[in-house]
Amino acid sequence: ASFGFREVAVEAKQDLVDEVFHKVARRYDLMNDLMSGGLHRVWKDAMVVWLNPPRSGAPYRVLDVAGGTGDISFRIVERSRGHARATVCDINGSMLAVGRERAEKRRLAETVDFIEGNAEDLPFGGTSFEAYTIAFGIRNVPRIDRALAEAYRVLKPGGRFLCLEFSTVDMPALDRLYDLYSFRAIPAMGRLVAGDSESYRYLVESIRRFPHQERFAQMIRDAGFARVSYRNLSGGIAAIHSGWKL
Ligand code: SAM
Repeated sequence: ASFGFREVAVEAKQDLVDEVFHKVARRYDLMNDLMSGGLHRVWKDAMVVWLNPPRSGAPYRVLDVAGGTGDISFRIVERSRGHARATVCDINGSMLAVGRERAEKRRLAETVDFIEGNAEDLPFGGTSFEAYTIAFGIRNVPRIDRALAEAYRVLKPGGRFLCLEFSTVDMPALDRLYDLYSFRAIPAMGRLVAGDSESYRYLVESIRRFPHQERFAQMIRDAGFARVSYRNLSGGIAAIHSGWKL
């Protein structure tokens, strides 16, 4: 099959994304470890450290959009020593099903719940959450500006927006290595482990098309967020963007 992700219309893009994650849901966590060499754990930890969820005080509710199998939510709840409550919202029932099973195994079913919903049209009322997180999710959403507007809407005043996403590598030697890794190794691993190189080629293409750090920061400002900043991780392979609804 030819690989036409680049040309597809906005409506079709979501269908393709859904198909990819239905297909990989059961192997998603394993593939993450293999393809990032475990680095995704370090990046996710960095995001949750930056969020620094409180361990006591007023209720702290986090909405973890495109939360998939729960990695970010579990970390937040654990780091807050059980004080924070997290809601994983994802468009894909297969990913959520894996997440629910993991939550039960970790005895976190009481503190983390799983709700199906679209980042572009969240099934929550306005000003409901202290924090909004999205990790490796926003580049899959066809209309990023809508997702950002929704993030702003559901946050309480004083609420925090944090986004972890693949970004633009800004080191000359690293970027050549990274290209080799992305365009050769990742699809090959996808074929070997998941029997599916196309889904992983989609992954690589979607990463390359995502706006670079500065431009994405401006999109977050345009959605109304204040004090927008970002941190690069591993030479810009990933970045965390932060903003506040003031
Ligand atoms: N946040 C998790 C993590 O870091 O491991 C999962 C990230 S996974 C790469 C991307 C997730 O985005 C998938 O679970 C997919 O179903 C979800 N997704 C894609 N489009 C979405 C949308 N429009 N609204 C909500 N979730 C979406």
